[in-house]
Amino acid sequence: MSFDTDEETELILESLDEFVAREVEPIVEELGDVYTNPRKGRRENGRWTDELLEAREEIRRKSAEAGFYAMNLPEEAGGDGISPVTWYRAKKHLATHGGGLERYALAGPEGPKPLLLQAEGEQREKYLEPVVRGEKSTAFGQTEPGVGSDSPNMETTAEKSEAQRASERSGAAAERDGDEWVLNGRKQWITNAPYADFVQLFARTTPQEEAGRYGGITCFIVEEDEYELGSYNNAVGAVGSQAEIVLDGVRVPEDRVLGEVDEAFYAAMDFLSLGRLELGAEAIGYSEYLLEAATDYVTEREAFGEPIGNFQQVSTKIAEGKAKTYAADAAGLKLAWKMAQDERTVMDASILKWFATNVLWEVADAAVQVHGANGLAEENPYMDLVHQARILRIVEGTDEIQLNTIAKSMGITD
Ligand SMILES: Cc1cc2nc3c(=O)[nH]c(=O)nc-3n(C[C@H](O)[C@H](O)[C@H](O)COP(=O)(O)OP(=O)(O)OC[C@H]3O[C@@H](n4cnc5c(N)ncnc54)[C@H](O)[C@@H]3O)c2cc1C
Repeated sequence: MSFDTDEETELILESLDEFVAREVEPIVEELGDVYTNPRKGRRENGRWTDELLEAREEIRRKSAEAGFYAMNLPEEAGGDGISPVTWYRAKKHLATHGGGLERYALAGPEGPKPLLLQAEGEQREKYLEPVVRGEKSTAFGQTEPGVGSDSPNMETTAEKSEAQRASERSGAAAERDGDEWVLNGRKQWITNAPYADFVQLFARTTPQEEAGRYGGITCFIVEEDEYELGSYNNAVGAVGSQAEIVLDGVRVPEDRVLGEVDEAFYAAMDFLSLGRLELGAEAIGYSEYLLEAATDYVTEREAFGEPIGNFQQVSTKIAEGKAKTYAADAAGLKLAWKMAQDERTVMDASILKWFATNVLWEVADAAVQVHGANGLAEENPYMDLVHQARILRIVEGTDEIQLNTIAKSMGITD
């Protein structure tokens, strides 16, 4: 393994910077405080204004046209098949811009994930390909009011419709037209639920007693006009991005099953490392951005007749952040490299996710502190990144769940 950035990756990173300057910055400038002031860019319930949504969609579409958006997916799915190492570097690099609208230039929770690569036949044309092209967006629906970390205990169910059961009882092969699943339950905190064209939604199809803890769960493609949107789940730092999905007898045809019936949880587990790699990359990129901003500030700002960076209590905060960010980046590269070799990465992914997001939390706090009152100012990005750090430590497996996974991988617990 080499720690050097190869020529192809170098070119991608440079082109991404050019894309941000050419396509994203003018949009941000035009939006003005609709973008920078959350009170102006959101409706009363938290929903993003149309202007903001259009801006996000435009960035996504243009990035897909330029070949960036889903370049980590295989070529047969419309991506570029770049390695996890290059994807890691690209995600991290984009985050060093500071976490603005440019983040939509590379597929996130609203974009295509490997789970969607299970799409077959018409599903590919209708769902996978438009998402890869940035024309449609999606969401991943797992969390419920009663379960988050313990997601296999989900209460949302999907049952075959009466018509289908009757046709199966009569021994006739179920007619495709007559095949339906009926979904009941409630999801919450689903990123992009208010704006997605369809959700990849998890429901229990066979009871745990029969299928085991991780078996018996199926992923369904549910279109946006088929589910009811409940309340917005407005997290500090992500207002308007998450919402509830209410499923009250929602009927979907058999061909909306994504992947195998009863196997969705195993399929999702196969892709956990990628999600953790992406979040780790994002956290490290933000940390690098903050360290640079803090360094600039403390070398210019003066107190007691000298730059505040001369005070050891100030410089140490930044130096510690630098050392930890450096170590987190090494962990990120190692995980990406192991993924590229198709090695087992369960523990590496948890180490990166836990460490990188906690480093960001410390670095963001330090960045606020060394900026004094300016660190708290709404127009500065520092508190936003404190909120992002807090979010990143909870989504896709909390700190505690990552540490549980590490302890389990070490053979301490089972
Ligand atoms: C901004 C945001 C975006 C999100 N996007 C999505 C999305 O797109 N799709 C989706 O499905 N979900 C999404 N979520 C939900 C997220 O995945 C869950 O919040 C997360 O998994 C934790 O679940 P929970 O909130 O129910 O907490 P709980 O599981 O109730 O945990 C509460 C606390 O108990 C601790 N805990 C629980 N079990 C253990 C244990 N075994 N050992 C030690 N400690 C434990 C947890 O670590 C946590 O500190 C999102 C959440 C947020 C905030």
